[in-house]
Amino acid sequence: MEVLSKRIQQLQESETLQMAKLSRELRSKGFDIIDLSLGEPDFATPEHIREAAKKAIDDGYTKYPPVAGYLDLRQAIAEKFKRENHLEFSPEQILVSTGAKQSLANVMLVLLDEGDEVIIPSPYWVSYREIVKLAEATMVNIHTTIESNFKITPAQLEQVITPQTKLLCFSSPCNPTGSFYSKEELKGLADVLAKHPQVFVISDEIYEHINFTGSHQSIAQFDWMKDRVIIVNGVSKAYSMTGWRLGYIAAPQWITKACDKMQGQITSGACSISQRAALAAISGDQTPTDNMRTAFKNRRDLVHRLLLEIPGFKVNEPDGAFYFFPDVSYYFGKTDGETVIKNADDLCMYVIHKANVSLVTGKAFGDENCIRISYATSEDKLIEALRRTKEALAKLS
Ligand code: PMP
Ligand code: GLU
Repeated sequence: MEVLSKRIQQLQESETLQMAKLSRELRSKGFDIIDLSLGEPDFATPEHIREAAKKAIDDGYTKYPPVAGYLDLRQAIAEKFKRENHLEFSPEQILVSTGAKQSLANVMLVLLDEGDEVIIPSPYWVSYREIVKLAEATMVNIHTTIESNFKITPAQLEQVITPQTKLLCFSSPCNPTGSFYSKEELKGLADVLAKHPQVFVISDEIYEHINFTGSHQSIAQFDWMKDRVIIVNGVSKAYSMTGWRLGYIAAPQWITKACDKMQGQITSGACSISQRAALAAISGDQTPTDNMRTAFKNRRDLVHRLLLEIPGFKVNEPDGAFYFFPDVSYYFGKTDGETVIKNADDLCMYVIHKANVSLVTGKAFGDENCIRISYATSEDKLIEALRRTKEALAKLS
């Protein structure tokens, strides 16, 4: 008899976290690992946010917070939507959670049943696939490639919608490709959804502020979508607050209420101190975020240039987030005389062991020909990591 549930046996470990764990282990054994695996800004959390957290402890924000989040934080989030996105939400439509990852899990668990279909364009973020599995629903994939800049077309969307389709879930700017859907492209998708009123959308906008095109766009902006879009966002990326674990949704009130019920039985309200810090982040000075965006854009340009110098890498120029997703299939079948590179998994293992650079296999994101490179680290480290990677790959023939 198996002791563990079928649910956990079928669940795959997050490959991004797995690679980060391997990097940490190798580093603790003395290897000089440069970690380009985890999507985590290297900047310190801005000072005014850290100060707000210290003050929160002294002010006694140490008790159970409301499940949905403090009212003033939810008001500040509603204000942010008005100010930055021209979207109207009441605080009752907002729910604060322990990271955007929990926000996503809440939404999927309250909307999905066995037999429901969730359309997820690939490459996708690793956890979408596994949360859909946890909710016992079925993932329906639309595969995209570098040729379409990893974006789906309205015709592709139309083709996979069935009476069982319940959700479309995507991120823009996208993890792992950095692709960003323009207003026109989103309208094309929203026009298709206008014909299928049973389909809801999870619009994962966690990379909203790491966008190099000048302005963010949300599929929630179209009138006919308002009642069926769930926006997922959080402070991890925009304010370099990954460890504070603070995310949120804005959604039709009945969905927010259901998520409140789910969260109330699993974790309760998100950490009280992190909530006070998030309030300072969202309603405070945005200059640190603007500076981080500029740094990321410079890194994007640098890494793009360096990747184009690696023979065989096919690469696009991402519009946002902090990832590259090059096609590395040129190396499949090649060997250094010792190791044969059969696929992207092998290539990542080869690079971590021979070049001490940690990357993530594209297989984790639904594309076996690619690898993901997170450039959320200093320019010096990026230059050194790509020099080492290029040198190790040059030994393959
Ligand atoms: N969505 C996407 C696309 C992500 O890359 C991540 C990883 N940070 C998350 C959601 C979850 O973010 P967090 O739980 O740190 O708020
Ligand atoms: N979202 C980040 C990534 O894709 C963090 C790791 C994770 O939560 O999976 O690397």
